[in-house]
Amino acid sequence: MSCDRVHDVLIIGLGPTGATLANLLGAKGLDTLVIDREPGFLELPRAVHYDGEVMRVFQNMGLAAALEPHLRPSSGMQYVNAQGLLMLERKPAAIKGPQGWATNYLFHQPDLEDALRRALDRFGCVEVRNSLEALDITQHADEVAVRVRSMHAAGTDEVLRARWVVGCDGARSIVREVISGPLHDLGLHQEWLVVDVELTSEVALPQPTVQYCNPARPTTFVNVTGRRRRWEIMVMPGDDPQTLLEPANLWALLAPWIRPDQAKLVRSALYTFHSLIASRWRAGRLLLAGDSAHQTPPFLGQGMCAGIRDAANLAWKLAAVVHGEAAEFILDSYESERLPHVREFIDTAMRLGEIIQTTDPAIAALRDRRFTREGTTEIVNLSPTLGRGAHTGQALTGILAPQPRLADGRLLDDALVADRFALLTSAPESLPASPDARTVLERLKACQLSDPALGGWLESLGAQHALLRPDRYVAALANSAAEVASWPITSWGFSS
Ligand SMILES: Cc1cc2nc3c(=O)[nH]c(=O)nc-3n(C[C@H](O)[C@H](O)[C@H](O)COP(=O)(O)OP(=O)(O)OC[C@H]3O[C@@H](n4cnc5c(N)ncnc54)[C@H](O)[C@@H]3O)c2cc1C
Repeated sequence: MSCDRVHDVLIIGLGPTGATLANLLGAKGLDTLVIDREPGFLELPRAVHYDGEVMRVFQNMGLAAALEPHLRPSSGMQYVNAQGLLMLERKPAAIKGPQGWATNYLFHQPDLEDALRRALDRFGCVEVRNSLEALDITQHADEVAVRVRSMHAAGTDEVLRARWVVGCDGARSIVREVISGPLHDLGLHQEWLVVDVELTSEVALPQPTVQYCNPARPTTFVNVTGRRRRWEIMVMPGDDPQTLLEPANLWALLAPWIRPDQAKLVRSALYTFHSLIASRWRAGRLLLAGDSAHQTPPFLGQGMCAGIRDAANLAWKLAAVVHGEAAEFILDSYESERLPHVREFIDTAMRLGEIIQTTDPAIAALRDRRFTREGTTEIVNLSPTLGRGAHTGQALTGILAPQPRLADGRLLDDALVADRFALLTSAPESLPASPDARTVLERLKACQLSDPALGGWLESLGAQHALLRPDRYVAALANSAAEVASWPITSWGFSS
């Protein structure tokens, strides 16, 4: 059965990446269909941490108030050796970080996924269909056909049509298979056991996340939210992974911290942590986002964060193309900007993985001597510069803008027109006034804001004007109307 309706965008996969993208496209009024083979969200023990940038994305989706009661600002993360030496440390979250939010949060992934899905009800233009599996994909000149099958009634295939298809379909992505670029393997593949418990009595456990770098059994402990606690336990040579999942064996592994009369087991699963990046994120009308495009070991808690960043980067570009405001080639900047950005997170997570996953006692001893000599190393929150793309490429562009509170107490983004470019200045008299500069700003449909609270930041950039993109990365800087008029917006895909 083939449907006559051609959607603007079909998203395959309603995990955190697909749900975020659907919310962002819904806000832009795009006719969006999201399908997922599951009847509801995956009840698996996965993400527990996200950062201030991701919270800012949720703020701009209008979800901060709904999410905040379910979050806990992080109490930091510590890498300790078997003797308790603190080797590396991410400090407790700054409550008011540069993004206007705490720098790091702990959360329960099902709480987030529930909020993201409920938020989709706000948009008449977004339709969600669960229990529908994408089976194959055919690209035509101006649309894509996706054959899907209901998970309920075998044999009832249907063909869905859309101008653009985004594969938010996770690690085993069918969209990635069709795009058919090789998967770049960065070399980490390690099996870990993940156990979530709910405390039934008071137990003295650490507040920060602790990475126990014990070569006999590398283990991560996370104080998640409320009574939820998480252990991630490396599967060692000689372990029989399947028997590890038996409750008696799980409790034996947790014995150094907790007893069965103090908590109940909620979920456990075996994962192989990978480090992979798809070498092509776009082929014609097909795009990848989230775990389908990249996978990282969770030592920084950044896999889902990267998917949310993908969604924020892609949404405004797709909307600009669908609304006829930008040429299709702007979509190529999605991969060129995001790939080196996510690569930096994966490389850092792999370096942390080398520290915690060391199982050779001699190598662990060398590592420990190094940290004894050098002292504790601080893990700083990364905020890499985007690869080349829809920004001028001059120094200090392609970076995420901070979000200060303005003179009237509002957070910056709350004073901007959502999903639009924004020209920022610190004083109204310095707004660029020439006709050519105005034309550039009109083509971008940019709003303008001047506020004294922006002065210090603009001064640090050496600029009177900063142009923010809808995803709040810095697109361009200028000190005069002539410089604004010369911004290369046609090379980004906008008409001059
Ligand atoms: C133990 C562990 C700890 C982690 N900790 C963190 C952390 O603290 N912070 C963090 O940021 N990240 C963390 N991550 C990573 C994070 O969980 C993932 O990166 C994130 O869930 C990926 O989201 P996604 O939406 O891209 O993909 P997924 O969540 O995998 O969603 C893909 C969806 O696509 C659907 N689908 C797939 N194929 C089809 C098809 N053919 N047709 C229809 N539907 C389909 C699936 O049913 C699924 O719902 C962790 C991961 C693990 C395993």
